[in-house]
Amino acid sequence: MNICISGDKYCHYIAFDAYKYFCNHHSGDTFSKKEIEVHYCDLTEDNVLGWCERVDEDSWLVTIHNALGYEEHFRTLFHEFTHVVQDIFGIKDEEIRESQAYQIEGTMYREMCASLKSVP
Ligand SMILES: [Zn+2]
Repeated sequence: MNICISGDKYCHYIAFDAYKYFCNHHSGDTFSKKEIEVHYCDLTEDNVLGWCERVDEDSWLVTIHNALGYEEHFRTLFHEFTHVVQDIFGIKDEEIRESQAYQIEGTMYREMCASLKSVP
C-alpha cells in the first residue's frame, strides 16, 4: 500500500477502503506501486468534489472535499483514482477521461456494495 492521508480529519477509513478496493479490482500492480496522497479540505468555493494532480513520475495528490456523503465519497475517490490510472497510461483526452471515470466510479461502487452485502 502506498497511500497517505492528510488534511482535515474526516472519515479517513473510507479513503483506505476505497484505495484497497481499487487496488484489488482495478489495474493491480500498475496502480498500487504508485504513491497516492489523499488530502481533505473544503472545496466548496471550487465547486468540485475532488481532483487529482500528478506530483512527479510516481506520485499523485488527490484532493477530496471534506463533507461528502458515503456514496459520493467512495465514488469521488474511485473517480480520481481512475484519473491516476489514466495518467499512468497516458490517456489525455478530457472527454474520454471523464466518461471513463464516471463509468468506473459507478460500476465499482455498485460492485463494492454488492460484495459487502454478500458477507455473512
Ligand atoms: Zn474527473
